[in-house]
Amino acid sequence: MENKIISNVIDLNRIQVTDPFWKKEIGLVRDTVVPYQWEALNDRVPDAQPSYCMHNFKVAGAINQKRAQETDYVQPVHTTNGFCVWPENPEAPEEKFYGFVFQDSDFAKWIEAVAYILHQYPNPELEAAADEAIDIVCSAQQPDGYLDTFYIINDISKRFMNLRDHHELYCLGHLIEGAVAYYQATGKKKLLDAACRFADCVAAHIGPEDGKLRGYPGHEIAEMALAKLYEVTEEEKYRDMGAYFVNERGKKPYYYDIEHAVNADKEPKLRYQYHQAHLPVREQSEAVGHAVRAAYLYSGMADFARLTSDEALKAACEQIWDDITQKKMYITGGVGGTHIGEAFSFAYDLPNDTAYAETCASIGMIFFAQRMLKMNPDSKYADIIERELYNIVLGGMGLDGTSFFYVNPLEVVPEACHKDSRKEHVKPVRQKWFGCACCPPNLARLISSIGTYVFTETDDTIFVHLYMGIHMEKQLQSGTAKIDMQSGFPWNGKVSIHVECETEETFTIALRIPDWCSEYKIIGIDTADTADTVIRSGYSNNIECDTELCSEKRYVIRGAEKDGYLYVTKSWKSDTIQIEFPMEIQVVESDSRVRETIGKAAIQRGPVVYCLEEADNGNDLHLLKMDENARFETEEKLIATEPVIAIKAQGWRQRKTQGGKLYFAHTRTEYDRTTLTWIPYFAWANRGEGEMQVWTRI
Ligand SMILES: [Zn+2]
Repeated sequence: MENKIISNVIDLNRIQVTDPFWKKEIGLVRDTVVPYQWEALNDRVPDAQPSYCMHNFKVAGAINQKRAQETDYVQPVHTTNGFCVWPENPEAPEEKFYGFVFQDSDFAKWIEAVAYILHQYPNPELEAAADEAIDIVCSAQQPDGYLDTFYIINDISKRFMNLRDHHELYCLGHLIEGAVAYYQATGKKKLLDAACRFADCVAAHIGPEDGKLRGYPGHEIAEMALAKLYEVTEEEKYRDMGAYFVNERGKKPYYYDIEHAVNADKEPKLRYQYHQAHLPVREQSEAVGHAVRAAYLYSGMADFARLTSDEALKAACEQIWDDITQKKMYITGGVGGTHIGEAFSFAYDLPNDTAYAETCASIGMIFFAQRMLKMNPDSKYADIIERELYNIVLGGMGLDGTSFFYVNPLEVVPEACHKDSRKEHVKPVRQKWFGCACCPPNLARLISSIGTYVFTETDDTIFVHLYMGIHMEKQLQSGTAKIDMQSGFPWNGKVSIHVECETEETFTIALRIPDWCSEYKIIGIDTADTADTVIRSGYSNNIECDTELCSEKRYVIRGAEKDGYLYVTKSWKSDTIQIEFPMEIQVVESDSRVRETIGKAAIQRGPVVYCLEEADNGNDLHLLKMDENARFETEEKLIATEPVIAIKAQGWRQRKTQGGKLYFAHTRTEYDRTTLTWIPYFAWANRGEGEMQVWTRI
C-alpha cells in the first residue's frame, strides 16, 4: 500500500459529541432505546414479540450449575433442527431455548450500545445492570469456552455442525464486538475474557490445521470482530483466525457442501452467492447475496486488506464498493433490492415498493465505508456514510425511539402491504420490536458511537469526514490540540472549526467536500477575513493553486483539494475556520437503466433525501407530478415533535378518469394545479399509516 494514507479511527475517549441534532438522537438511545431494549431482551414489553434472549442465557447457566452440582445430572436433549422456536404457552416458557438461533447476539448488540453510552455519560446504575447481565451471560459459558445457548441448551454434541445456517460464529462476532466496547468503556475484562475464550474454543475446532473443520461463518461478522479483537489484545492468533475466515470463503470444494453432505452439481448456483461463498473473496467483484452478510464480509475484507497489506484483497473491496454504490444502491443509501433472500439484485434493479433495503445492511455499509476510508481517504466513502446516516439510519427508528423499520421502502401504499403477499415484508408504520430483532439494537450501537465516524487521523493530519458539533483532542509533538467543531447539519451547511494548540504547530486538517455540494465558501484559511467561494467544476479536483490568488479571484485556498478533501496545512495556534456548503434543493434523476424511476425525480437537500407523504399531499400520490420549472421553497415544519425543514413547490395532480372503464382510448391527460410538500425521508411514518413515495413523476 505504497503512497497511500492509512488513517485511524479516533476512539470515544478523545471525543465528545456536542451537536444538538445528534445529541438528541444519542439521548433517545440512552434514555429510551437502551432501557426499552433491556426490557425487550427480558420479555417485558407488552404487545411485543418476546425475545427470550436473557431467558436462554439463564437456562444455559442453570444447566451449567446443575451439571457442576449434580454428578448424575443428565441434560435433556432437544432437536437442533430448525431456525427458530417459540414456546407453546408464551405465558409460561419452559426451560428450553426460544427465539432464533442467533438470539444471543441481541445481548451483545445491547451491551455494545451500553458501552458507548457509558463512555459518554457515566451512569453507575446502568453499569451495574450491565455487569449483572454479563454475569448471567458468562454463567452460560462452557468449561472449554463455548458460549452459544442454542447448542448449550439443545444438544452440545451437535455444535459446529451447521456453520452455514446456525450463526454460532455470528454470535461469536457480536459477542466480541460488545465485549471490546465494554472493555474500552469501563476497563472491565470479564466479558472480553469470555469472548476470547469462546474465540479460542472456536479456533480449537475450526481452522486450516489437520483434524479441524475447514469452515467459515455462514453469517459474516466474526471477520471484522476478530480484527478488532486483534487490535485490542494484540494477540496474533485472533488476526490469523479472522484472516483464515476471509481467505477460506468460497474455495472449492465448498465447505457448505461438505458440511451438509450434498452433491455440489445439484445445488442451485445462487445457493453459494447468498453467503458470498461462490468464489474466493479476491475473485469477487460484484456484491451478491444477503445484503447484511455481504456488507459485513466486505467490512472484514477491508480490515484484513489493511492489517495484512493485501493489495488483491483491497482491489476486490474497491470493485465491490463501486458495484454497490454505482449500480445497486437506492438514493436513500438502502441496499438489498429484493426481499427474496434479503439480497442484492442485479445491477440497476431497484424497485421502490418491494425494496428490502434492510436497516442493518445500511449500517453494514457504514462499517464498510469507514474501513475503506482508513485505507484511502476518498470522499466517496464518507459521502455514503452521510447518506446512510441521514436517511436510512435516522429513518430506521421512529421519532419516539420505540418503533423501528427493518425494511426501508421508497414507496408505500398501505393497502398493498396488507393485501399483496409480495409486499407483506414492507410495513407502512414502524413496528415495536421484532422477533428477529437485528435492526433496533444495531441502530442503537451505531447511533451511540456516531462520534467515531466523524474523523480519522494520521500523525500530522486530521480528516474531517462528517460535520457535526463535536469536541476532539489530538496529541501533537509539542502538546495537545483541542478541536471544536460546530455545524448546522443537516439543516444548513455552516461549519465552524476552532483549533486551540498549547504550542503553535503545523499540521493538516483535511475537510471533506460533500458530493452534493457544487460550490462552497471558506473563511479563515488566509489571514484576510473575506469569504471566498470555491466553485467546483464537475466535482473534479479542480483547485490547482495552493499559494496565491489565481487569475480567477475566487480561488484563495492555501490548500488543495484531492479525492474530495480540501487539505488545509498551516501553522495552528488559536484559529477558527468557517466553511459553508450551501444546501441547495436538488432535483435528482437516476441512471436510465433504473426502470422503476424513469420519468421520475427525487428531491434532496444537503444530505437529506425527501419524500411525499399522504399526510401532507392526500392519497393517490401516484397521480402527482412535479413541475421542473417550479420554485422550490423551504418551510419549517413539525413532524410529531420533531422540527424539520419541509420543501414546497407548485406541481400537478392528474385528474382521475371518469366513466369507470378500465381501458379506453387515450386523450390528453388533464392535470390540476396543486402544492406538493416534501418532508425528510427519515421522518416518514410518524403520523399514522399513509402513502409515501420518494420518486415522483416529472
Ligand atoms: Zn436488521
